[in-house]
Amino acid sequence: MIDLRSDTLTRPTEEMRRTMARAEVGDDVYGEDPTVRRLEERVAGLLGHEAALFTPTGSMANVLAVRSLVAPGQEVLCEASAHIARAELGAHGAYSGITMRTWIHPRGQVDLPVLETLFAPDMGPFFVATAAISVENTHNFAGGAVLPIEDLRDLREFATAVGARVHMDGARIWNAHVATGVPLAEYGAVADVMAVCLSKGLGAPVGSLLVGSADAVAEARIWRKRMGGGMRQVGILAAAGLHALDHHLERLADDHAHARLLAEACGVDPETVDTNIVVVPRSDAADFVAAAREEGVLLAPVGPRTVRLVTHLDVTRDDATKAAEVLARLA
Ligand SMILES: *Cc1c(COP(=O)(O)O)cnc(C)c1O
Repeated sequence: MIDLRSDTLTRPTEEMRRTMARAEVGDDVYGEDPTVRRLEERVAGLLGHEAALFTPTGSMANVLAVRSLVAPGQEVLCEASAHIARAELGAHGAYSGITMRTWIHPRGQVDLPVLETLFAPDMGPFFVATAAISVENTHNFAGGAVLPIEDLRDLREFATAVGARVHMDGARIWNAHVATGVPLAEYGAVADVMAVCLSKGLGAPVGSLLVGSADAVAEARIWRKRMGGGMRQVGILAAAGLHALDHHLERLADDHAHARLLAEACGVDPETVDTNIVVVPRSDAADFVAAAREEGVLLAPVGPRTVRLVTHLDVTRDDATKAAEVLARLA
């Protein structure tokens, strides 16, 4: 089976497993795991922030990140199909007492004129106060779309001018960086806090990080423990992340090339595919997915009229070529 359902499906390589097995470890709740410390310092450095915190999932990193900017009873603005709004099961409301208002953009982009109308930091004791704006780069449900750095800089300028904080869900910031050549630190510079994932295209089995100021990270460390996310000899997992950054970052360009190949096979303009996710409009989504499965290609239906396919570390050039043949025939 060629599995194009998600880039979370990657399995650790033999080399990654060997690196994990050898990792130096300690109790990370005591702050004594040297491999976790190395990973946190490295990722903070890459994104140009003071500190980072290793978390079991990207959802937990997002919950900790957003709550560091937004108090209970306040709101965060985000795009309507953002992961924080749709795919975290209401965590920001359930745990943090935060509400959201959303803008809609088919490619998940920043819409500054609309944001200006939504932003309401203080309308007296009648309306919820906006504390932060959240953006997702790349944008998952918008088909892995990159948010251009110019738009993000304009957002930063607006946010600073009006006193809003900025959260970036950078689960796939690595893909944005490789696709555009924009240094990671330039993306980092537009956000007060970020969340990044090691367990998507980078191919680690588990792990995400929250990145931000030393103060924000110190507070997030307390809340992580409070939420039951304090982990002990977790350097074994951090080692997978370090290995992924060493060996699986630049190769994301291959995933992007494979995604364009598959897009073309499905009749989607490859020019519209920024990174490793292809959204295919199909009125027969369920039938198309079933037919592809018969031919050894797994796809994900994301609604009755849309199919999503995602390339990743475990999809070789050969796999992508074979899958493209199958999909072209079925399409
Ligand atoms: C995968 C993902 C996350 C985190 O997901 P977890 O499964 O909780 O690790 C966050 N944001 C986006 C955009 C994602 O795609």
